[in-house]
Amino acid sequence: MDSIYKSLAEIVGEDYVSNKKEELYIYSQDPGMMEPHEPDYVVMPKTTEEVQKIVKLANEEKIPIVPVGGSMSLSGLVIPHRGGIALDLKRMDRVLEVNEKSRYVVVEGGMTQGKLKAYLERRHPDLRHSMPDSPPSSTVVGNIVIHGQGRLTQQYGFNSDMVTGLEVILPTGEVCKIGTCSVSPYWFALAPLPDLAGLFLGWFGTTGVITKLGLKLYPKKKIRDVEVFVVEDPNLVPDIIYRLTHTEMTEDIVVGAQPYPLIFKDILSIIILITGDSEEEVEFKRRMIWDVLRTYIDSKEGGFSMLPPDMKKMLLKMPSADTIRFADVMKGGGFEYSGPIIPVEKFPEAYKKLLELSSKYGITFGHSGRVIGRSHCMMFSFGYPFNRADPDNIERTKKALHDTNVASLDIGGVPWKPEVPAQKMIIERMDKNTLELMKRIKKLLDPNGIMNPGNWEAE
Ligand SMILES: Cc1cc2nc3c(=O)[nH]c(=O)nc-3n(C[C@H](O)[C@H](O)[C@H](O)COP(=O)(O)OP(=O)(O)OC[C@H]3O[C@@H](n4cnc5c(N)ncnc54)[C@H](O)[C@@H]3O)c2cc1C
Repeated sequence: MDSIYKSLAEIVGEDYVSNKKEELYIYSQDPGMMEPHEPDYVVMPKTTEEVQKIVKLANEEKIPIVPVGGSMSLSGLVIPHRGGIALDLKRMDRVLEVNEKSRYVVVEGGMTQGKLKAYLERRHPDLRHSMPDSPPSSTVVGNIVIHGQGRLTQQYGFNSDMVTGLEVILPTGEVCKIGTCSVSPYWFALAPLPDLAGLFLGWFGTTGVITKLGLKLYPKKKIRDVEVFVVEDPNLVPDIIYRLTHTEMTEDIVVGAQPYPLIFKDILSIIILITGDSEEEVEFKRRMIWDVLRTYIDSKEGGFSMLPPDMKKMLLKMPSADTIRFADVMKGGGFEYSGPIIPVEKFPEAYKKLLELSSKYGITFGHSGRVIGRSHCMMFSFGYPFNRADPDNIERTKKALHDTNVASLDIGGVPWKPEVPAQKMIIERMDKNTLELMKRIKKLLDPNGIMNPGNWEAE
């Protein structure tokens, strides 16, 4: 037995470490397009202390270490490009505290979206978190690390804007608290202290392992309803979003488009979620929403769609079962999307590019775009399902994804949760002093370069 395996087994127990081929295989890939690469070990710690010991060991031995949540970010961010330790955090899945009056929750670093949702529904039915439409097995921390977006993003910003505190294991092994929890027993905010959370958000686990997270919770209204406004002309979408967000009456706004079934071809559906504590409140909001869109109804450029009860039920489901089903739409089960964050006014250009690339490479697509904040920006997904067993299909999809990233940057957007090649494209266009600052921070925090190597590397 090699000495690293033995040390890991001493830390977490024999049952939670493996170097068996079949288990390493699982951690060598995600459902996306990036080339697989096996780790040397898989470890599943249970406590902060165990994570700390593993990180210290990895740092001493200069072994790469890759934090793994649900592996659902799709762009290969958990693939151990240089081997080493896959640190699967899913055993760390406890809710540590819910503060009802200050509306925040503290969870461990491997808490899944599904478990947190179920926990809140059972014990705190008036509270909710901003759940993304990713599978329930994806983790809350994995989502905030990549600046994810959820059902409350249109009202409150990126899910990472909802962080109230962090406990992090630095790459050199120290446990560090960020936010009010570094001073007080309460995890209520990052302010008024210097904001150090940015050292860990958006870095894809290259600056430390998050073992605890404080997250804002929001009022859960009793009634949720949905309206779908349809248009054909993509040029109208930015103004429609502007009008809708001006009302401040919507919970979530998502634009959807897909070529199949044919009934949906060339139609843009703007899905508008409304919530309220009474029928009157919902009706009031609905009326305001109808009023701001009336001009498009009168000009016959758009209209509200009739929603059969089954369709309504499907649209109200959290996470959206439809998105998850779409991920598996092709024979072979491959799915990846590039979801650049773009200014809302760039929607028509991005949509045109999506149609162009899907036609150029002969692949199908699914688009969904989530409005972030009061129309501050949006995530525009270019979703491409592919057949993992068809090399030609994979090649064409890879090219489409590459061109998508170039086009996103060209229109002034920034690829979201970029895979390593897209990270390099971003770095190439980045302000040189910003890049230098990133390098200095990385070197300071992780002198031995052990944390998720390959990501955010300049060369
Ligand atoms: C069908 C489908 C729908 C989706 N819809 C959405 C959506 O609506 N909104 C959205 O935002 N995303 C969506 N996604 C993308 C993604 O699944 C989610 O963002 C998900 O929450 C990512 O979490 P994860 O646990 O899978 O992250 P992982 O892929 O496991 O990890 C992501 C990154 O975080 C790092 N990391 C993980 N845990 C830690 C930790 N404890 N400390 C430090 N670093 C860590 C990893 O190393 C990696 O770099 C969707 C994906 C699919 C397949």
